[in-house]
Amino acid sequence: MAKIIDGKLIAGEVRARIADEAAALAKCGVVPGLAVIIVGDDAASQVYVRNKHKACAEAGFYSEVIQMPRETTENELLCKIESLAEDGKIDGILVQLPLPEHIDEKKVTAAIPPEKDVDAFHLENTGRIMTGDYRYLPCTPAGIMTMLRHEKIDVAGKECVVIGRSNIVGKPMAMMLLNENGTVTVCHSKTKNLAEVTRRADILVVAVGKAGFVTADMVKEGAVVIDVGINRGEDGKLHGDVDFEGVKDVASAITPVPGGVGPMTITTLLENTLAAAKRRAER
Ligand code: NDP
Repeated sequence: MAKIIDGKLIAGEVRARIADEAAALAKCGVVPGLAVIIVGDDAASQVYVRNKHKACAEAGFYSEVIQMPRETTENELLCKIESLAEDGKIDGILVQLPLPEHIDEKKVTAAIPPEKDVDAFHLENTGRIMTGDYRYLPCTPAGIMTMLRHEKIDVAGKECVVIGRSNIVGKPMAMMLLNENGTVTVCHSKTKNLAEVTRRADILVVAVGKAGFVTADMVKEGAVVIDVGINRGEDGKLHGDVDFEGVKDVASAITPVPGGVGPMTITTLLENTLAAAKRRAER
């Protein structure tokens, strides 16, 4: 039976350290500040934003939630970003995705100054991941790397397989594993003989968005399995992309859903915002 990697516990430890560092910074007159903009009333997005706000409060950060109506124009949103870019209290700006269809996500991401882009979606920050010379790392894959380090799972020389190639999870995940000297394969919907590829993995990261997609027969005995998926089932509960019950008997370590990767994502957001505030303190 695999070791269950407790993301909640790891996140708690990292957040306690962040809160201590934020308190020390506050004594020097710099309180880390995060602004989260949400456009429209998507229910899942509202929950994510509330969780981010709560995590900021617990870490002693200043946090602003800017709720804008669904009819907000692209220009109005860009103006709001511009004013936050100039706001000295704000170290990080995050625009909750998805945006309503009439707003161009790329334009919005590009409008956030790279030094305040704590989600690391701006092209400048994305490009920096390629060279390993980064300012911020995208929250979900960076949270997974923190987990692996915490569990003393060495990536160097390991066969790493990532299923999923999205810009926010799969691709940066692959690059980070490569930067840590893993031998990395990225799979997607056009990959042939997927199970053959996944069975080679010492470390398997699954970010597909389909409940129970990875089954025990796709996993090598003793592999580390990281489940990024968040799927709301008909039972109203959250399910991962991995068939946890089957795979836990084959893997050596596995993340549960909920309580695995999820808590690490917001933790990295706090880390990025703290790093931005430290840079402000040095100016
Ligand atoms: P996307 O929908 O952007 O990407 C899904 C990827 O899965 C695509 O690259 C797609 O391939 C691939 N895929 C789909 N079907 C198959 C298949 N049959 N075989 C192999 N690959 C397949 O999703 P995200 O990366 O944004 O998110 C993935 C999951 O992670 C979702 O459940 C999401 O909710 C969750 N998530 C969780 C977070 C957390 O904090 N825990 C944060 C972000 C996301 P192709 O490119 O060819 O279409």
